[in-house]
Amino acid sequence: MSIALDLSMPPNPRATAPGRPSLVGLNRTELAKSLAGAGIAGDRDAKMRANQIWNWVYHHGVTDFERMSNIQKGVRAQLADAFQLDRPEIVSEQVSVDGTRKWLFRYRDPKNPRLPPVEVETVYIPEEDRGTLCVSSQVGCTLTCSFCHTGTQRLVRNLTAGEILGQVLMARERLGDFPGGVRPTDGLVPAPRGSGGSEGDSRAITNVVMMGMGEPLYNYDNVKEALLIASDEAGISLSKRRITLSTSGVVPYIEPTGREIGVMLAISLHAVRDELRDMLVPINKKYPLKELLEACRTYPGLSNARRITFEYVMLKDINDSDADARELVRLLKNIPAKINLIPFNPWPGTNYDCSSSERIERFADIVNRAGYASPVRTPRGRDIFAACGQLKSETERLRKTEREALTA
Ligand code: SAH
Ligand code: SF4
Repeated sequence: MSIALDLSMPPNPRATAPGRPSLVGLNRTELAKSLAGAGIAGDRDAKMRANQIWNWVYHHGVTDFERMSNIQKGVRAQLADAFQLDRPEIVSEQVSVDGTRKWLFRYRDPKNPRLPPVEVETVYIPEEDRGTLCVSSQVGCTLTCSFCHTGTQRLVRNLTAGEILGQVLMARERLGDFPGGVRPTDGLVPAPRGSGGSEGDSRAITNVVMMGMGEPLYNYDNVKEALLIASDEAGISLSKRRITLSTSGVVPYIEPTGREIGVMLAISLHAVRDELRDMLVPINKKYPLKELLEACRTYPGLSNARRITFEYVMLKDINDSDADARELVRLLKNIPAKINLIPFNPWPGTNYDCSSSERIERFADIVNRAGYASPVRTPRGRDIFAACGQLKSETERLRKTEREALTA
């Protein structure tokens, strides 16, 4: 059973007014600069004001300047005239029988409200000891991995840093994760608030994975800004060890990811021979296995305590033989690694089948015996099409002429 709530709201007329930029997604320096630029703060107090706003937006989850009670009334009004803090509109929210929750979020173009809005999906996966939010980085994807539903949707555009964070903020709001928030009564298996234990135990969202729609390393700058803000201690404060970025293998951005963002890395490997990987993950033609694995071996911050996760989708009779398992183990030698076996999640029109559970077990066995813990990821949210690789939205790329007509 799945419940689809229609939460669509009339568009906020102020959100469509051009000229009121959002402050969400700006780093502290940019935020202070924007305040100074709008004449709301001077050189001396811009930093202090930026910190106040930061705390309200990311720690308290406030979307209305009026609620910023430590800022003088007049300044709040100035802020509201010059800026906005809008989040995406919720088009739908679905809850799976297994508690997984999926949102379809809609965004207007930040620069041109006349362009049609775009939509992405975001998924929340609750487990006993953690809650993982799977976040999208792009509307569609430029890449065309043959087993992935998102890969059938052309890239419409990159999400901005604010739009990427908007998914986290909106999910926290819906799950009651901000101070004073209320947990939903359906779907969620939350760790009880204030149950003690490590930091994050009392939150609905303890982990973020950049594993939704899109290739995060083809939107590097915005993903970087968003993740640095999400891990900032004065705000959302997610530990970088609890943030994982998954890439199909955009090799030139792997080293900067470790050095500049410092989050955990996951690689969508899926094949152990170039010939097969060229077919399944076509970016392999540009960055073949040897280069990819070399970039992994030298990933900044890599250690036995901070391993790279290698994702491997189990495709019947394609990549699931004993020989594949043995080669996988050989390839990953000397890289601190975890292996995540993902049963293939079907979607309409696909030609692939998922390997049988016996085959997956046998494959996992070989990998385990080589010393890797290789959890087989239980598919979650398949009934609402929320499992790995099933995400897609209806947003279509405009033809150049259509776009030009709307931006003229
Ligand atoms: N673009 C990034 C992140 C998004 S995909 C990447 O490719 O890594 C998240 C994970 O789901 C990737 O490992 C991807 O290969 C996998 N995936 C895609 N389609 C799938 C499917 N149908 N079944 C199972 N996993 C799939
Ligand atoms: Fe894009 Fe990742 Fe899907 Fe490949 S697997 S098409 S990179 S979203």
